Amino acid sequence: MKSKYFIITIDTEGDNIWKRVITSSGMREIQTENAKFVSRFQRLCEKYYFKPTYLVNYEMASAEPFVSQAKEWLRDGKCEIGMHMHAWNTPPVYHLPFNRKGHNPFAGEYPRRILWKKLSTMTEMLEDTFGERPTSHRGGRWYIDPWYIHALLKLGYRVDCSVTPGINWNKAIGNTMYGPDYSNFPREAYFMDRKKLDKAVKQSNMANSILQIPPTIMNTALSDRLQKALENPFDIKAIAREKIWLRPNGKNLKEMLYLVEKTRDRNYIEFMLHSSELMPGGSPVFVTEQAIEKLYSDMDILFSEIGKVRTGITLSEYTSLFKKEKLK
Ligand SMILES: [Zn+2]
Repeated sequence: MKSKYFIITIDTEGDNIWKRVITSSGMREIQTENAKFVSRFQRLCEKYYFKPTYLVNYEMASAEPFVSQAKEWLRDGKCEIGMHMHAWNTPPVYHLPFNRKGHNPFAGEYPRRILWKKLSTMTEMLEDTFGERPTSHRGGRWYIDPWYIHALLKLGYRVDCSVTPGINWNKAIGNTMYGPDYSNFPREAYFMDRKKLDKAVKQSNMANSILQIPPTIMNTALSDRLQKALENPFDIKAIAREKIWLRPNGKNLKEMLYLVEKTRDRNYIEFMLHSSELMPGGSPVFVTEQAIEKLYSDMDILFSEIGKVRTGITLSEYTSLFKKEKLK
């Protein structure tokens, strides 16, 4: 692939899912007010000819005005609609024993026959709503496992982006289990082996496997770490753990620009954000209107830098190009 690409992924989900959904008295109500706030983001993408991939979950697959607007963007070839799975409220609803110390469950905590139904329901719902069967996916809370990947393949998916390279989610609790360990997973796109998800399949099996396109995450470079260590030698452990994501948090524009520069030779870089983060108070990170304005100002600067050297592409478009290149 001669060009360099920019992939934008938006986990499109209800407001404030950082707050636990399953409570001791059952499932709390999930609002979708942020459905009114996505169009501004789409306009920002279009300003730079970028094509976001909206990974849409259950409650957002019927949330207006997002659905009507996204149908138009899709018709005009300006975005892709993929699937995002929050297993806790996707039908059929299935009650796990309540754990006081737990949080929103990982998909892998549900019986497989239930999870299969949830995955098929979501796929059909998106196909009915948007008129196209989704082919891209990201798991809720970054969860996938070999069975899950196989199920996605059977449902017609071709690409997943749930792997967060270098990150171990072993401190993140679901209902009772802890998250996956992606510490040693590849940092760039690869066709996943279904038995060992951190390994790439042989070329002969590529046509029938899922392309993993991980979000761009980088450890701080050693020289920078040392630099910081000199500034605050007592915090060396925190420095060693530091990761830079292409994911705005209101105070990391410099880091993101640094990441863009450091990864300039990579074929693609992948941005991520939640739709709820586009609304004041939709997330714990961007609470006020000023915080949202700062977010947009940061994204504008970031996108304009990226737009100088990279072309926007959706997850599935990138997958087609990648496949062509590898199978040539
Ligand atoms: Zn999510």
